[in-house]
Amino acid sequence: MNQKKPDNQNNNSQPPPTRWGSLVQMLIILALIPYVITTMMTASMKADNREIMYSQFLSLVDKEYVASVEVTSSQINIKLKPGVEEAAAEILNSDISQAQKPVTYYTGVIFDPGLSANLYEKGVDYKHSIPQTASMFTVIASWVIPFGIAYIIYFFFTRSMMKRMGGDSSSMGFMGGVSKSKAKVYNVEKNVAITFKDVAGQDEAKESLVEIIDFLHNPEKYVKVGAKQPKGALLVGPPGTGKTLLARAIAGEAKVPFYHLTGSEFVELYVGVGASRVRDLFQTASKDAPCIIFIDEIDAIGKSRDNSLSSNDEREQTLNQLLSEMDGFDPSRGIVVLASTNRPEVLDKALLRAGRFDRRVVVEKPDLIGRESILKVHASKVIMGDDISLHEIALATSGATGADLANIINEAALRAVRLGREFVIQEDLMESVEVVVAGKEKKDRILNSKEKELVAYHEVGHALVSVLQKNSQPIQKITIVPRTMGSLGYTMNVPEEDRYLMTREDLLSQITMMLGGRAAEIVKFDTITTGSSNDIERATSLARNIITIYGMSDRFGPMGLESTTQQYLDGRKVLNCSDDTGSEIDEEVRKILDSCQQAAIDIIAANMDSLDRIAKFLIEKENINGEEFMKLLNDKDKTSAA
Ligand code: ADP
Ligand code: MG
Ligand code: ZN
Repeated sequence: MNQKKPDNQNNNSQPPPTRWGSLVQMLIILALIPYVITTMMTASMKADNREIMYSQFLSLVDKEYVASVEVTSSQINIKLKPGVEEAAAEILNSDISQAQKPVTYYTGVIFDPGLSANLYEKGVDYKHSIPQTASMFTVIASWVIPFGIAYIIYFFFTRSMMKRMGGDSSSMGFMGGVSKSKAKVYNVEKNVAITFKDVAGQDEAKESLVEIIDFLHNPEKYVKVGAKQPKGALLVGPPGTGKTLLARAIAGEAKVPFYHLTGSEFVELYVGVGASRVRDLFQTASKDAPCIIFIDEIDAIGKSRDNSLSSNDEREQTLNQLLSEMDGFDPSRGIVVLASTNRPEVLDKALLRAGRFDRRVVVEKPDLIGRESILKVHASKVIMGDDISLHEIALATSGATGADLANIINEAALRAVRLGREFVIQEDLMESVEVVVAGKEKKDRILNSKEKELVAYHEVGHALVSVLQKNSQPIQKITIVPRTMGSLGYTMNVPEEDRYLMTREDLLSQITMMLGGRAAEIVKFDTITTGSSNDIERATSLARNIITIYGMSDRFGPMGLESTTQQYLDGRKVLNCSDDTGSEIDEEVRKILDSCQQAAIDIIAANMDSLDRIAKFLIEKENINGEEFMKLLNDKDKTSAA
């Protein structure tokens, strides 16, 4: 007995419902009340009522079975005389067992001016009843309850807003104290598992961050000498180069808590929210020192205050708060503020001055060696076959960022699974390079044979011009399989190494190669197609750069005519010259393009037999790799020699 009692108690005691749970229940119950009331009311009305036809009602009256009639605005309730049920059942053609129950009937109201005379004649008691008291409750129910619900929803809405604003909402009165915790827009990672090992390449960036790590390990060492560490460092670079990754790795290396948040999360519609979040963040973090605060995409708050047309009070307040917090904290306690951006040029100068984000770490797109080591890092997480050459992939991905490379490895792994293999082979990797560069193969887009011929000649035109020029570039692959990103085919060049310096001749031969596709169309078919739009766009922009950015034209010489505004994004340019000069630039661009196109046409015209031979092969096979291409090209020498 003694032992059983506690047992019983245990069984009965259920976990107490959470406060939110009970509130939700309450809301549901409140919402159900009007429904319950109306169903109850109609149910009681319909208790043992049966609807009959108006004609049946008239027959009942006619046969003098009806004792009394009550007409309401919507229906006529009919009471039968006692003892006539059986007879009435015949008219109503219902079975007797049902009819024997004391039933009242009702029917709808029909415009029938003769009814009252008729009823009077048959001696039926009748009256028209006015709805009143019963509906008082309905009125209350149907008006007050929706308002009540609306109020409750509003109440929770404002409350959660207050919470997100970091305000204390316990003073809100009824149902107060749901949660007094302040909203956090930042994430804290106490043990970051990522270290510098996970960030491949980027050696220069790492080097300049080593000191920060050492400082976080041992702030006293610096304080003793009187050396001040920078309070903040700004990671700058194009998207996907590993800025976020690098910041996390610093925390991992230093083994300190990592406070991570995104600039845009600070700024909301409500003025003052961002500022209070900044204050909150620095307060919490300073209790946790040494630690790292990382503000990702800081340009969302750090935009220069005076260069925007629409002033944004909220952003300015947030920025001001951030500036004053950065001045306020004591760096010897070991707090380092990191931030990342890909638009450093828009940042407010006040953020960049000494004592704030004065250290700038540039995170560039990886070079050949960097790409290979990034590929290695990501390949180590995937099962690879024996034929893998990451070097080859690195060569083929000039200009790719770390994120692109991670994506390529993942796409390759997905392809391997799709094809039922348990490891990744080189072909998967090459295919996924193409997927990332040009989109997926589009199997359902079938070119007709004329189109296929045009595309094949176009692509072989590019390839021939590319290989046969003075500054030739080897061909990696030619394909005429359409891809999802709009290309009907393409030619892949692979440089043997990364190039950092280009001569004027290099650039011109690139333009010539871009126009090689169109040149082939002109020479072979004496026509031009829409397939060159992308070639033309790229060729034009390169020709323009030759003149305006690189200062390589005879006409203008070393005069800077355009400047880039978003160096790390799409690199939009603004013209820095008069309108007259602008139209002269257009003329010069046109000259370059014309002469390059002529050069391409000359090369193609001199190599028609190679063009035909390779295009024929390509139409048949749809893909040609670099070796096959060179073999086909060299066949010519044999045939012409023979
Ligand atoms: P960013 O913040 O510069 O836009 P991220 O740090 O978010 O770029 O990088 C995106 C992803 O790309 C990372 O999660 C990682 O998988 C991969 N990545 C980028 N750079 C590198 C690198 N240097 N080494 C390894 N992986 C990288
Ligand atoms: Mg990022
Ligand atoms: Zn083309």
